[in-house]
Amino acid sequence: MSEPSIFTRILEGEIPSEIIAQTDRVFAIRDIAPRAPLHLLVIPKSAQYRDVVELAAGDPSLMAEMVALAQQLADEHADGDFRLIFNRGAGAGQTVFHVHAHVLGGGLTEGSLGD
Ligand code: 5GP
Repeated sequence: MSEPSIFTRILEGEIPSEIIAQTDRVFAIRDIAPRAPLHLLVIPKSAQYRDVVELAAGDPSLMAEMVALAQQLADEHADGDFRLIFNRGAGAGQTVFHVHAHVLGGGLTEGSLGD
């Protein structure tokens, strides 16, 4: 077995981070290094899928649940609009190989694709 991911350790309370929302299968935290006024991470509780390609192929309904939670959080914490980013692979900036969506919102630069 590989080491538990940093997100599994947060979910299990080993690393402090407030869980700001959760469903049976998904939870959300604030990114420790925010790159937008609102920068949340929406994460499946299971670490089964390493990235968005594996997730989409393996459990599309879980991916849909992540998107729905992103919308709910953008409604609650910003004006309802948000940018959803999945980094896939180290070359694209992925550092945690437990799939997660970055939810960015609250005063994004118009037309920008990222930071
Ligand atoms: P990735 O680069 O894999 O797409 O995204 C991983 C994200 O996890 C990064 O934006 C990073 O700031 C965030 N992160 C890493 N460690 C922690 C942590 O211990 N707590 C929180 N809240 N976020 C973390």
